[in-house]
Amino acid sequence: MTILILLLLAAITALLVIPAVRRPILSSPIFRAFRRALPAMSETERAALEAGTVWWEADLFSGKPDWNKWTATPTPTLTSEEQSFIDNEVVQACKLVREWDVAFKDHDMPQEAWQFIKDKGFLGMIIPKSYGGLGFSAYAHSEIVSRLSTRSSPLAISVMVPNSLGPAELLLHYGTDEQKNYYLPRLAKGLEIPAFALTSPWAGSDAASIPDSGVVCEGTWQGKKVIGMRVTWNKRYITLAPVCTILGLAFRLYDPDGLLGTKKDLGVTCALVPHDHPGVVIGRRHIPLNTYFMNGPTQGKDIFMPLDFIIGGPQMAGQGWRMLMECLATGRAISLPSSNAGISQLAARVVSGYARIRQQFKTPISRFEGVEEALARIAGNAYLTDAVRTLSAAAIDLGEKPSVVSAIAKYQVTEKARESVNHGMDVVGGKGICMGPGNILGLVYQQMPIGITVEGANILTRSLILFGQGAIRCHPYLLREMQAAQASDTRQGLLDFDQAFWKHMAHVVGNGLRAITYGLSAGRLAPSPVGVAPEMQPYYRSLARTSAGFAFVADLCMLILGGTLKRKEKLSARLGDILSQMFLMSCVLKRFEMQGRIQEDVDVARWALDDCQDKIRIAFDGVFANFPIAPLGPVLKRLLFPWGIPGQPPSDTLGHRVSQKFANAGAARDRLTSVCVINKEIDDPVGVIELALDAMLACEPIEAKIRVAEKQGRFQDEPLANVRDLPTLAAQLGVITESEFQEMQKRDALRDKVIHVDDFPFEIRTTASVPSSERHRQAA
Ligand SMILES: Cc1cc2nc3c(=O)[nH]c(=O)nc-3n(C[C@H](O)[C@H](O)[C@H](O)COP(=O)(O)OP(=O)(O)OC[C@H]3O[C@@H](n4cnc5c(N)ncnc54)[C@H](O)[C@@H]3O)c2cc1C
Repeated sequence: MTILILLLLAAITALLVIPAVRRPILSSPIFRAFRRALPAMSETERAALEAGTVWWEADLFSGKPDWNKWTATPTPTLTSEEQSFIDNEVVQACKLVREWDVAFKDHDMPQEAWQFIKDKGFLGMIIPKSYGGLGFSAYAHSEIVSRLSTRSSPLAISVMVPNSLGPAELLLHYGTDEQKNYYLPRLAKGLEIPAFALTSPWAGSDAASIPDSGVVCEGTWQGKKVIGMRVTWNKRYITLAPVCTILGLAFRLYDPDGLLGTKKDLGVTCALVPHDHPGVVIGRRHIPLNTYFMNGPTQGKDIFMPLDFIIGGPQMAGQGWRMLMECLATGRAISLPSSNAGISQLAARVVSGYARIRQQFKTPISRFEGVEEALARIAGNAYLTDAVRTLSAAAIDLGEKPSVVSAIAKYQVTEKARESVNHGMDVVGGKGICMGPGNILGLVYQQMPIGITVEGANILTRSLILFGQGAIRCHPYLLREMQAAQASDTRQGLLDFDQAFWKHMAHVVGNGLRAITYGLSAGRLAPSPVGVAPEMQPYYRSLARTSAGFAFVADLCMLILGGTLKRKEKLSARLGDILSQMFLMSCVLKRFEMQGRIQEDVDVARWALDDCQDKIRIAFDGVFANFPIAPLGPVLKRLLFPWGIPGQPPSDTLGHRVSQKFANAGAARDRLTSVCVINKEIDDPVGVIELALDAMLACEPIEAKIRVAEKQGRFQDEPLANVRDLPTLAAQLGVITESEFQEMQKRDALRDKVIHVDDFPFEIRTTASVPSSERHRQAA
């Protein structure tokens, strides 16, 4: 009997371990089944999947993150030139734009601001110095965009777009020398304003299916007969299009007469078309939620253009989708994460200040527990979003094009910013609602859906990209298996598949065992890197445990659902949530280390980490409750988390400490809002909050004296004993000195300015007398 069992074990081992035995008996039928089950992949899908690189998210996906790699990630720094630009040019640019005037009077930034950003190279920050650009790092780029967005979204967007997926990025990677030498210096100096037009009325999220098309044909160009293309397009939502001088254009190119070769449908092609090329229609504008940056449609019908207009020349015809996908990760990792991290900080700055200044029931509203809760969330989001945008930019500077990280950063930071602004609006009450030059948050509140929608709308990003694309990109074996299954040489395909598949199986078993062990020990056996802050070690352990559990569950879902997981968007979204939250936690932990473990920030970092862990718990619960094989869900939950899924919302006491530290002017608040560019002037709606806050804090001892007198009943039955006139009464009764009274008067004047809300004559007129188009014409 024993011999029989031993023989059986030996046979099984031989079957699994010896490739020559395993391949025909096991791997070959699995390979055939895998090939049948694999959904057909279009060229555009393949390009999207293969574009860019994977970074730390792949470690999180592996179930066994290498913490040494994460802790060794260098802290991004600025050169002295970049720092000087931030301290000078950025601050000056911010001073040139007033949100209210842009939104309600001029419907455009002032010409002075346009000229300034062109002259100072803001539109060419990513262009290398050799072409006359600023040649800034991705981190510097992020620092600049985040600062600009704390003053004006139109300003930030006008700078962001040329530096992200504007033609510069495409030219740098794919342009011909001639195109680079002509356009890059002109873009760097602001002599050209670029726009990039992909979206059409019929193809928004599904941008690969643009109906805009070009046909290769003969035509006349500069008096000569040449082979070119006749292009027709109808695009909308295109940022900077109304004022652009070169229009990047994506369209599908066909070659029905075989003038370029045998292929008739060449595919998506990107071209650069001068704005004054005959037949190009630009100039009309959309109004994106009262954020009057330049955005509008463009059309062209049967416009003949030479093949040299194609970015990279004729040989790049049909390569447009791959080019766009490869460049998208870079811009997406910087633009919206940076601008929305800036907005989170702006919300944090103004709301914390306002909540400390505004009193009701004789108490600053920041002290009410209900308000405290909102303030703690705003503070936590500000800490987290800055960590995420910093590390996403750091990845680019390390040479990555992180397609999944950029999607996580875009999705999470825009959602957090929206959450902060929503809570902020609740805290500032009517002051946020009534529009006018003194409004502090109303315009930002209106603008929030823009970031949510552009560069991959958030619902789509969460449900389809984060896990759907992330799983294939980050998984150590899946992409290799897919590539093997799709290989035209099936013999080689089987060999590659066999290698990847059995390693994959060992990976699943390893992660399962690891997750069960960590679960049984309630995470105590999970590793934490050496040399990190002791107070943060439990979070590292928790992340290691989450990673193992996630990798195991994700593999089971993929095994059960195969290609249909793509359509199970709710499940995919929850798995994407877990991956995202692990990345966010990693960024928070890294920020804490990079900033030298500032003890005053322990609470806010812990608040952000607890919030992420809570979201992981909710997502895991959702996955188990909706597991593709229903009875397996509760079993897996019990197996991996025998003592319950860890994570609970940040505690009330932690939230209290975070909000109180943050509502008082001081170093903690300054660090949390370090990118805010503030004009500390009485007529500036944000600046005046700072002045009033300083005055409030300076008057606290005087106010305490008044409170004591009040409790002693000294103000009883006095008509001046009301919230506004109490200091006057206190001075009259000698409770406070004359100089103290003057201090209080100064404070009250500033406070009144902060709580003041604009009103207008019955016939409200806000528009400027000179139309925006006229001003642009005059400037040209
Ligand atoms: C202000 C602004 C500026 C822009 N700038 C530019 C620019 O410079 N150049 C350019 O080419 N484009 C630009 N765009 C276009 C932008 O990228 C698209 O608006 C965006 O991709 C979404 O397309 P859509 O608005 O048509 O929404 P739709 O594609 O109609 O989507 C509507 C909703 O359905 C969801 N959805 C769609 N498909 C799926 C799916 N498979 N699964 C789950 N949910 C899904 C989306 O998430 C969204 O919530 C801009 C848009 C705006 C509003």
